[in-house]
Parts: sequence; structure tokens; C-alpha cells
Amino acid sequence: MDTIDDRLATIDPLHKFWYKKKVANIDMLRLDKLHPVVSGNKWFKLRLNLIYAVDHGYKTILTFGGGHSNHLIAAAFAARAYRLHAIAIVRGKYDVLTPTLEACVAEGMQLIFVTQDDYKNKENDDWIRLLTADFDRTLIIPEGGANERGQTGAGLINRYIKKNYSHILLSVGSGTTLIGLRNKLFTDQHVMGFAPMKGGVYLKDYIGEHLTPEQNKNWTLTDEWHMGGFGKCSGELIDFMNAFYDENKIPLDMVYTGKMMFGLQKMLEDNQFNSADNLLCIHTGGLQGNESIKDKLIYK
Ligand SMILES: *Cc1c(COP(=O)(O)O)cnc(C)c1O
Repeated sequence: MDTIDDRLATIDPLHKFWYKKKVANIDMLRLDKLHPVVSGNKWFKLRLNLIYAVDHGYKTILTFGGGHSNHLIAAAFAARAYRLHAIAIVRGKYDVLTPTLEACVAEGMQLIFVTQDDYKNKENDDWIRLLTADFDRTLIIPEGGANERGQTGAGLINRYIKKNYSHILLSVGSGTTLIGLRNKLFTDQHVMGFAPMKGGVYLKDYIGEHLTPEQNKNWTLTDEWHMGGFGKCSGELIDFMNAFYDENKIPLDMVYTGKMMFGLQKMLEDNQFNSADNLLCIHTGGLQGNESIKDKLIYK
């Protein structure tokens, strides 16, 4: 089966010059190494959904996303790995497919385009029933893999995370990965979420509601480092990503982990950590999202 080997992920130390010894240590969990186009955390969020689909006799999965969605390409790949048919409800109409959507089609995914307005129904059961009427045995997976199986699956990322890390940093889109991990990590480990969209802290309520009462502590969410908003990329960010690569030899993506690491650098300069802290930054992948700026990067 064409699948993903969990052992491809590594834990790489950042160079001491980069964090100027403001903390004891910073490592990066390289989930980006799991697959060139499938974001590491997406694979974890999808896997239990796919296993569930196979175990319960589903033939098709149907899910949702925009034209640049890391989730869609991951879902297309994962469905094929589990021999399921995949359908995507795509937000907006495209005369020309984006590279992401082309990759989805290449994985055998069927695309259904709906207007931005119709897309807002994505959690409306009646609308979904209409959409799926023609397909047999279809498992619906919400946008971003944001369901309970997605949370539980993301929690399995904890297998890479040792107890001696004081802070775990990750980028947040739907909050699913943060929820899964917060529920699984040791309670005294601080989980720090970085939302790359304007106003992203609205997710705090949703996240809090999905944490067990015992684990609903020691986590934070900031949207301070959205850098112009979701998917927006400035020259400052590109310069940062190139400099980061130069020092650490780790490629960052412009949508998620790039902005998180930019924010972390500012927080370190601002002395927001203690010198004994031991940080683990999760690189969630998404490097395919750099397509539009690839000519400006010193890495692929
Ligand atoms: C989707 C995604 C995230 C956000 O994950 P959530 O579970 O939706 O919060 C972070 N990084 C990358 C690269 C992603 O593709």
C-alpha cells in the first residue's frame, strides 16, 4: 500500500546561534519529512477517519476545502492509500486548477465546485445529504479533518514528544491538532498555539470545549503573528524563512510554520522564555504551499 512511514519524521536541533541561548534548547519535530505534499499533521488527523471508513464498509469519503487546502491533497492521498473513492467540495469556482487541486485530481479525487455562499452550508446536514445522494456509502469528513477521530489521531503525534520538553509549539488552523495533543501530552507541558489568521484567537472557546477538564490548562493561543492574514506572504517573511534555512537547514512553509517561527523569534528577542526552557516546535508540513513564492526561496 502506498502509505506513509511514521519513522521518516525526525527531531532536529535548531542552531544555538538562532536562539542566542535565550533558552536551554530548541528542537523541531519534522513532520514535514513524512511526505512531500501531505502535511504531517493532516495525515495523523485523517488516518483514523480512513480506518473507520474501511472498517465500516464505506466506499467513499467526502470532504471540504479551498483551492490551496493542505487538507484536500492529504485527503486525496490518504483515500487512495486506503482504496477509497474521494470527493472534495471545493470553495469557489476555478477556471484553471491550482497546483493543489491538480495534485488532488492526480490522486484520483473528484472535485465539486460550489460558490463561496453555498460552501457556508458545509456543516448543514440537509445540504450534505443532497450532495451525497448520488454516491453510495459516503463518510463525511469535515473541513480540516476537524472531528473527534481527527483529534484523537492528531493526539498520536505525542509518540514523538518526550516528557522533558517544557513547551510544545504548533501552528493552529482549525485547532484540531492542538486539541488532540493537549489532551495527550503531560499536563505540565505548555502547549502554545500560533494561529496564522487575523482574529484567530476566536478558536479559544472551541478548543477549550474539546479538552478534557484535567487537560484544559497550560495552553495558550495567539494570533499576533498572522503577518497580514491567512496565506498572505510579505518580503519580511520570505527574508526570515531564507535566513532560518541558512542557519538551521530546515525549510519552512509560508502559511503556518514560517509565521510561527517568526513569532517565536520575536518572543525570544523579547525575553518571553526562561533560560532553562526546552522547546519543541512542531513543523506540521505544508511545504507545497510555497509554490507561489518558490522563485524567492533559497530552498525547495
Ligand atoms: C492544517 C495545517 C495546520 C493546522 O492544523 P489544525 O489541526 O487545523 O489546527 C498547521 N500546519 C499545517 C502545515 C497545516 O496544513
